[in-house]
Amino acid sequence: MTLRPNIAQMAGYVPGYQPDDAASYIKLNTNENPYPPSPRVIEAILSEVGEGLRRYPDAASRAAREEAGRLYGFDPSWIIMANGSDEVLNNLIRAFAGEGEEIAYVHPSYSYYGTLAEIQGAKVRTFGLSENFEPQGIPENYQAKLFFLTNPNAPLGFCYSQRYIADLAERLSGVLVVDEAYADFADEDSLDLVRSLENVVVTRTFSKSYSLAGMRLGLAIARPETIAALNKIRDHYNLDRLAQAAAAAALKDQEYFRACVAKIRETRTWFTAELVKLGYQVIPSSGNYVFATPPDRDGTRVYQALYERRILVRHFTDPALSHGLRITIGTPEEMARTVEALAEIGA
Ligand code: PMP
Repeated sequence: MTLRPNIAQMAGYVPGYQPDDAASYIKLNTNENPYPPSPRVIEAILSEVGEGLRRYPDAASRAAREEAGRLYGFDPSWIIMANGSDEVLNNLIRAFAGEGEEIAYVHPSYSYYGTLAEIQGAKVRTFGLSENFEPQGIPENYQAKLFFLTNPNAPLGFCYSQRYIADLAERLSGVLVVDEAYADFADEDSLDLVRSLENVVVTRTFSKSYSLAGMRLGLAIARPETIAALNKIRDHYNLDRLAQAAAAAALKDQEYFRACVAKIRETRTWFTAELVKLGYQVIPSSGNYVFATPPDRDGTRVYQALYERRILVRHFTDPALSHGLRITIGTPEEMARTVEALAEIGA
């Protein structure tokens, strides 16, 4: 058997640790939502469970796209549903970046873009951040086929201004993908830029703000020509019947969604202040997580000590991040227990 050389050489993406007995931990390592999905979503899923499952799902995910279109103010021809936003990120690379062509992203951000590029055989260029979190050294009229901008940044949590994103899009000859996995927890988003700038694509996930990581649901919003290209590439039945029903119901129940996001933002504010009292450096976050650095800058030590207390957070071995920890915002009770544990562990 002869593998393609790029597949033989690549390491593959490693998601956050999933212990067998996850329920016995305070699990704050994969930015899941601590609250259940809306009861309307559960009802919608259950109503699909039955005899009708012998039929294929709607290949165009129409009900979910219409609901998304109503919510965001776009015609459904501007929307594609995805089996997790990871699926649509993958298809964007397959659509726009051929073998040997360049894609780019900010470091640190979501390293999965690099893995997807490796699979495709595309070249990767990363841009580091300045002190004030601006990507460094992006050439004028940069020719990369795709530029992925994670906004809010993950794992650091800061946001770029809309002005910055619009300027960047104008400087790129390729596509700017704004990965808004966490934008529901922020004050601003880039949807207006999709309307005004041809080369901007926005991706979203249902895994965080809609508490549906287990369903695998995401979407992208872009010009209809781009959506049409992505539709040629995806699996024709990429969303099963349960996922389509869940997506439409989740988008419809905005009251539940807003209450959930508000609770998480409130807990984020409280937890950030507590970390600062403990001497941690915390980057103000627009996501459902914070990136926090202990006073001794020894992220590994604090990770281990929390793990021994059955609190799981995310520690990255990447030298740009190993000094700190990314901690998902859970319930107020979970965060209070985490603060107690951190006080006990000490600096
Ligand atoms: N983008 C970013 C920045 C993420 O952190 C994640 C989740 N790990 C994703 C995309 C993928 O999310 P999904 O669960 O929708 O595939």
